[in-house]
Amino acid sequence: MSHKYVYLFSEGNKDMRELLGGKGANLAEMTKAGMPVPQGFTVSTEACTQYYKDGRQINDEIQAEIYEYLGKMEEICGKKFADPENPLLVSVRSGARASMPGMMDTILNLGLNDVVVEGLAKFTNNPRFAYDSYRRFIQMFSDVVMELSKKRFEEIIDQKKAEKGVKLDTELDTEDMKDLVNRFKAFYKEEKGEDFPTDPKVQLMEAVKAVFRSWDNPRANVYRRMNEIPYDWGTAVNVQAMVFGNSGDKSGTGVAFTRNPATGEKALFGEYLINAQGEDVVAGVRTPSPISQLQQDMPEVYAQFAEIAGRLEKHYKDMQDMEFTIENGKLYMLQTRNGKRTAAAALKIAVDLVDEGMIDEEEAVLRVEPKQLDALLHPQFDAEAVKKAKVIGKGLAASPGAACGKVVFSAEDAKEWHERGEKVVLVRLETSPEDIEGMVVAEGILTVRGGMTSHAAVVARGMGTCCVSGCGEIVVDYEKKQFTLGGLTIKEGDYISIDGSTGNIYAQAIPTVAASISGDFGRFMGWADKYRKLEVWTNADTPRDAKQGRSFGAQGIGLCRTEHMFFEETRIKAMREMIVADNTEDRKKALDKIMPYQQGDFEALYEAMEGCPVTIRFLDPPLHEFLPTKEEDIKEIADELGITVARLHEVIASLHEFNPMMGHRGCRLAVSYPEIAEMQTTAVINAAINVTKKGQYKITPHIMIPLVGEVKELKFVKDVVVAIADKIIKESGIDMKYEVGTMIEIPRAALTADEIATEAEFFSFGTNDLTQMTFGFSRDDAGKFLDYYYENKIYESDPFAHIDQKGVGKLVKMAAELGRKTRPDIHLGICGEHGGDPTSVEFCHNVGLNYVSCSPFRVPIARLAAAQAAIKEKRAKA
Ligand code: PEP
Ligand code: MG
Repeated sequence: MSHKYVYLFSEGNKDMRELLGGKGANLAEMTKAGMPVPQGFTVSTEACTQYYKDGRQINDEIQAEIYEYLGKMEEICGKKFADPENPLLVSVRSGARASMPGMMDTILNLGLNDVVVEGLAKFTNNPRFAYDSYRRFIQMFSDVVMELSKKRFEEIIDQKKAEKGVKLDTELDTEDMKDLVNRFKAFYKEEKGEDFPTDPKVQLMEAVKAVFRSWDNPRANVYRRMNEIPYDWGTAVNVQAMVFGNSGDKSGTGVAFTRNPATGEKALFGEYLINAQGEDVVAGVRTPSPISQLQQDMPEVYAQFAEIAGRLEKHYKDMQDMEFTIENGKLYMLQTRNGKRTAAAALKIAVDLVDEGMIDEEEAVLRVEPKQLDALLHPQFDAEAVKKAKVIGKGLAASPGAACGKVVFSAEDAKEWHERGEKVVLVRLETSPEDIEGMVVAEGILTVRGGMTSHAAVVARGMGTCCVSGCGEIVVDYEKKQFTLGGLTIKEGDYISIDGSTGNIYAQAIPTVAASISGDFGRFMGWADKYRKLEVWTNADTPRDAKQGRSFGAQGIGLCRTEHMFFEETRIKAMREMIVADNTEDRKKALDKIMPYQQGDFEALYEAMEGCPVTIRFLDPPLHEFLPTKEEDIKEIADELGITVARLHEVIASLHEFNPMMGHRGCRLAVSYPEIAEMQTTAVINAAINVTKKGQYKITPHIMIPLVGEVKELKFVKDVVVAIADKIIKESGIDMKYEVGTMIEIPRAALTADEIATEAEFFSFGTNDLTQMTFGFSRDDAGKFLDYYYENKIYESDPFAHIDQKGVGKLVKMAAELGRKTRPDIHLGICGEHGGDPTSVEFCHNVGLNYVSCSPFRVPIARLAAAQAAIKEKRAKA
């Protein structure tokens, strides 16, 4: 038998997501449960992959199967495609495994042409409805399938309304709709040089192709990269019998959630529109009524919907996001899926579901996406400042958080301004999928139209970006790049602040403060901590960072980059004196000046970490980074240091390197100038002794030697450290232990990790440099060319953000094994940026590291990711 690519809804179930996509699998599951679902079929994700394999063609075999299933669908529905007597019309919708904004979403009313529309008019006895459906179809098909400008169609409608002197679409009658159909078709012909396709079968195949094509559009690719969705998953296509929410006042369409997606509150939440089709709700063109209103408008339909919603939630054991249509008083379910929600709602729902006995703690831990926690940890407006600020308008509190930035009016401008370092708030009439890149970089999103389920609201919540939607009082002038609100005119580049938790809008910059964590969050993180095996440490160079990390639950400092302490105004002079010194004695003198600063910093770090391990990394960057480059600075600094400009130039020239990241840095500095390591050791050990003497904490400092590639160089530096440390400890008379370890960040260190472990008491994988050196990609410049690699699908994600498991990961795994062979109790961690990236954390768990270390704000994310990794592993083994 040939391969099966197409499935009736009655043939699938919820566990077939990989093949049918999320939407298809859930439509099948609802069908199985006997819910009122308009029937149809799903073209599988395998057909999509095949389409790409065949050079972006749907091959004859798959086309034949699609038509065969269209026949089966006709039988089930008792209507025929393109039958003027009683036509079957369909919707065509994409549905990947994971819901993916940016891809083609929906085409409605497919199957109409000049003949069929007349039949539909007669059959329904409602010609206005028939022609309204037809004009919508032409519009959507031209836009989505044929990629004509949506805006032009809207302009044609606006022009028609102006001619008639009316404001609303609903004020256009049958003849007007007919006229719009003709104008649309004329515009289509003008643009495409051919007639609008009249054969419904051609329409169908073109629509399926368009869905497959949209899997590879730039917006989908951006979203996939952000969310690490593999390209080879492909998307499914759902072809479903149309039911009509726009067939009169007993009809309507809406979107609803079983719980509030912004707060998590347990109550049916949503919106609907009477006499409308799906896209009217999502596009935000008309402002919908709350779902509670349906109870008054159509009590029986409401009761049935509420019952189904409850059943679906129990069935999926999660909050559901459902689309429905009412056709002449009869309810149809068009979709259900686990609803997207804010971080706060995700926590509340997870905790409530446990309390309601629906899921256990382990399951709850898996329900919150680690990255989402970010939204809870990010700043809110300063309470005092916001009290004094003047609210100039209010919209819907669509996605919480506070945002302050300069106004821009297009996604392109948002991107451009962001690239030059500006913080922006994107202001739009409404957003659509093509705005995604601008939305990603904006601090906040403000829209004039659209409800809580509009594109802007849904996408912003998913990204954890603050959003205020549907502020109808705003009058936007895109041409002049300005808007008016509350009697004020705000121009592009002016500051505004928006509060996604209240909907308030302010025409001024308002300072923000860090978020505080409590309530559900604490309880939830407690569960996560119960399951995780990895420890989570933080990268912190200052006592402030250390305190922040500790308050977020860090169990140690995995990386203190000491060079950051040298850059400070008061210290850089001594550092420069050290660099320009041409003999050891002068160098030591300069280092003596730096020592007390370092010691003070280390004491503060130990105290901030309340006795947890603190890993101090010795000086790492090339020394030229501490010297000026501009001529006027060179002169000033030469004066300050009491040397001639010529001498400073000489030093700068002598430090010049063609490849500084592979140059005189890391432990190579300590090999050349052991006095630097001596000074740093003295500061580390003295600080630990002082804090230990105070009696509250017993400190065991961890000294970390960077950029080691050969055991002998590690031994060389370690000997320097040990000689000094032992001497100081002996003199102090207290019993103090310390550890000397290394970073594994050069491939050679990973390859010879068994030898390195003879000297190193711990390894910390510096995956920033390890990625740089394994790929041979400069970590500072790769951004310039990686886009080409994404475009050509050579790499699907940034190896500096998500660990490259195949290559870099192989080195990590190997080094961990080799290290443990030599020293079974060696402590293994990671301190590159990957330490706070959820998929990389999962990798670290799987290869058996002891801890991950990441920036303070990512500590909770890493804690949760580590717990999820442990639970997933346990479940896979069970
Ligand atoms: C690393 O290379 O991964 C690392 C943590 O060190 P740095 O980023 O300071 O080079
Ligand atoms: Mg490094």
